[in-house]
Amino acid sequence: MGLSRELVGLPMKYISTRGDATRRGFSEILLEGLAPDGGLYLPEAYPRIDAPTLARWREVQATQGYAALAFEILSLYIDDIPAEDLRALCARTYTAEVYGSDAIVPLKPLEPGLCLESLSNGPTLAFKDMAMQLLGHLFEYELGRRGETLNILGATSGDTGSAAEYAMRGKRGVRVFMLSPHGRMSPFQQAQMFSLQDENIHNLAVEGVFDDAQDIVKAVSNDLAFKRQYRIGTVNSINWARLLAQVVYYFAGYFLATKSNDEQVSFTVPSGNFGNVCAGHVARMMGLPVKHLVVATNENNVLEEFFRTGSYRVRGSAETFETSSPSMDISKASNFERFVYDLLGRDGARTKALFADALSREGVFTLSAEEFAQIGAYGFQSGRSTHADRLATIKATYEGQGVLIDTHTADGVKVARELREPGVPMIVLETALPAKFEATIAEALGPDVHAPRPAALADLESRPKRFQVMPADTARIQQYIRDHVPL
Ligand SMILES: *Cc1c(COP(=O)(O)O)cnc(C)c1O
Repeated sequence: MGLSRELVGLPMKYISTRGDATRRGFSEILLEGLAPDGGLYLPEAYPRIDAPTLARWREVQATQGYAALAFEILSLYIDDIPAEDLRALCARTYTAEVYGSDAIVPLKPLEPGLCLESLSNGPTLAFKDMAMQLLGHLFEYELGRRGETLNILGATSGDTGSAAEYAMRGKRGVRVFMLSPHGRMSPFQQAQMFSLQDENIHNLAVEGVFDDAQDIVKAVSNDLAFKRQYRIGTVNSINWARLLAQVVYYFAGYFLATKSNDEQVSFTVPSGNFGNVCAGHVARMMGLPVKHLVVATNENNVLEEFFRTGSYRVRGSAETFETSSPSMDISKASNFERFVYDLLGRDGARTKALFADALSREGVFTLSAEEFAQIGAYGFQSGRSTHADRLATIKATYEGQGVLIDTHTADGVKVARELREPGVPMIVLETALPAKFEATIAEALGPDVHAPRPAALADLESRPKRFQVMPADTARIQQYIRDHVPL
């Protein structure tokens, strides 16, 4: 019996943030999206890490590496996959071959007390690979064990879709049908997705905008008979396994940035749907010595406003801006309910009243003064960055430290420089590589500076493309799926 079970003492079960009392195992929620009551899944309790365990994990990371650390952490949350299988899944996921170095998430110093944690060295050059690659292996494993197959249907404006495709390509039992707005992704993003030749990956370029693609996905998901018959699933950011995978790099970053477990660090996280920083919250709840979790937003400052005022106000499409850090352009933060549930003392009825009732009625909720006063105890701070800030930060970081950063990371660095404190190392999560955002890099630094691209992607745009142009018509998409899924 491993240390993990002794720490938890009980089987690990998952519950909904909206009060549904059913307790489910990890394997039951792995392939699911929302809980049946519309809430998000969370563990019944966070395992608390004692000092000897934290010391051992530091040793594991130093001597056995990231995959071994990932196994230690995941095994506290997953007790329905045999330990040796889980260890093998982690080892297969976090390799130097996929992430470019044995360190997997190396730190890059910017200046004393401020560094970047590189999370973007996976196949699609953004941090979503850290979790999605694990999800691909977990899905293949679980589907194989059940003798089932799954057809993942999604809509993307670029990043999530490519991370999902690179994670699921060639995986047994999984097909991906990814809708994207025809002709509206960057040449790099198009090339990245459409150059995949794997038979289980279907790129459907929809004649319309992203919202049209998204609406089709919703319509198909609401067709329950079709959904069941064709075993339709998703890989969106509310999936608990994705969040769990992200918890690991908070521990790894902490061990790399400190010499002993007596020290504290803070993290700044470029945020959109609150998935990344929510994993930091989970790490902190487990006992990782994190002083502050700084939520950095762009002009779409739903979250920054909440942490400043206690009001959560979702935005309409007219109020949602297209910015130069596009992966943070959100109108509402789909993982945010998880944190609020903890903040409210895990009161499912109150969480439901805020998210299901107030939000759908008025598009806004405001915490009571007592509730808002609790936020300090969770370590959160927030800040906001604009297009001009991004350009200035990219330029200052390139000229001052010789480090080229992407636009999302620039939002983080801008806010981190404002909120860092003496004596507490600040780690900014690098969420994408600048090679993905050449136009803004040129705007910040002039046409002569080029973001380096990993050698393996040098000829990306000239590779043959495999995609199907489709009308923005739900029935036609459903027919395409029927034609490509054997029953
Ligand atoms: C998805 C994404 C984000 C936002 O992450 P959340 O988990 O949605 O908060 C930030 N930067 C990049 C590059 C991303 O792809």
